[in-house]
Amino acid sequence: MPVPDRIDALAGEMTAWRRDLHAHPELLFDVHRTAGFVADRLRDFGCDEVATGIGRTGVVGLIRGKGRGSNRAIGLRADMDALPIQEVRDLPYRSTAPGKMHACGHDGHTAMLLGAAKYLAETRAFDGTAALIFQPAEEGGGGGEEMVKDGLMERFGIEAVYGMHNIPGMALGTFAIRPGPIMASTDRFTITVEGRGGHAALPQRAVDSVLVASHLVVALQSIVSRSVDPLHSAVVSVCALEAGEAFNVLPQSVTLRGTIRALSAEVRARIKERMEAIVAHLPEGFGARGSIAYGGSYPVTENHPAETAFMADVAAGLVGEDRVERDVAPMMAAEDFSYMLAHRPGAYIFLGNGESAALHHPEYDFCDAAAPYGAALWARLIETGLPLGSSV
Ligand SMILES: [Zn+2]
Ligand SMILES: [Zn+2]
Repeated sequence: MPVPDRIDALAGEMTAWRRDLHAHPELLFDVHRTAGFVADRLRDFGCDEVATGIGRTGVVGLIRGKGRGSNRAIGLRADMDALPIQEVRDLPYRSTAPGKMHACGHDGHTAMLLGAAKYLAETRAFDGTAALIFQPAEEGGGGGEEMVKDGLMERFGIEAVYGMHNIPGMALGTFAIRPGPIMASTDRFTITVEGRGGHAALPQRAVDSVLVASHLVVALQSIVSRSVDPLHSAVVSVCALEAGEAFNVLPQSVTLRGTIRALSAEVRARIKERMEAIVAHLPEGFGARGSIAYGGSYPVTENHPAETAFMADVAAGLVGEDRVERDVAPMMAAEDFSYMLAHRPGAYIFLGNGESAALHHPEYDFCDAAAPYGAALWARLIETGLPLGSSV
């Protein structure tokens, strides 16, 4: 394995941490046990500073290198939260919390960054500060945004920030990245159609909100096909349609819920503009009223070109150029590391998880053999980005 021996030697510990976290999944900002676990480990490793409660339950560990000249700091970010999914596999370290599960591998992300922290605190072969960022609420709560709003970048002097996510189906020991958009923006929407309820046999006296909602679902599909440049990527999905309950009643109102995805701020704005126009005007033609509200929004995760090339170079130095894809296709899933990249230059990379069930699947499990690669990339990124110079 092309991973430094001292990190490879941490594999057993990283596996133990990961499995402990896996057995105790926590959701959104309610990651108190996990944050405590992380903070305890960081203090044990001898971090120079361990700050808790950043962005509610986020943790930041600072490690200063042995060089003395630099006040530069690089941020490395892991996410700590799990998902509201019932685990189905009977693993020895399976979830002990009913209905909660680490189905996105954030247990592995946390363990890898802890492994890198232990190595960096022991060796300190760099000049500057490694800021180890452990964020809550990646899965829809905007924990990354909360940490940024809480002064994460300014307080710790972070000048660049990097993130990593495991990908099932990508070979172990491989990385993939691209400059520009790598993960989509997301916006949840809720549309309400207000008609006039009535007897199903007397539709002439009602305004049929179900019929209006049906036209809306179809009209919304015109946005991606007719209003967005075919060379750009976008998704509009209506995922829930809540209407009446009886066989003979036309309901007063209907609610539609769904999600918008885009790979640029311009396309995202265009979709919303068209959506608002359709929701405002189409129901009017039927004598109904429509309204739309958004929530759970993350911007596009946009990799900065110079930092992307740097991260890819560090990965290639570790595993070889042939094991680093430098122009991987972006994913239409979203990631709230996007908020950090909106405030500081940086990049986000995919790490191979080998053959496993898909992310967010009840049979998914992070592959412990991937952790040394992730931890080694983090460590090398600090040692390369904050090199020991003549000030040693
Ligand atoms: Zn996820
Ligand atoms: Zn995830």
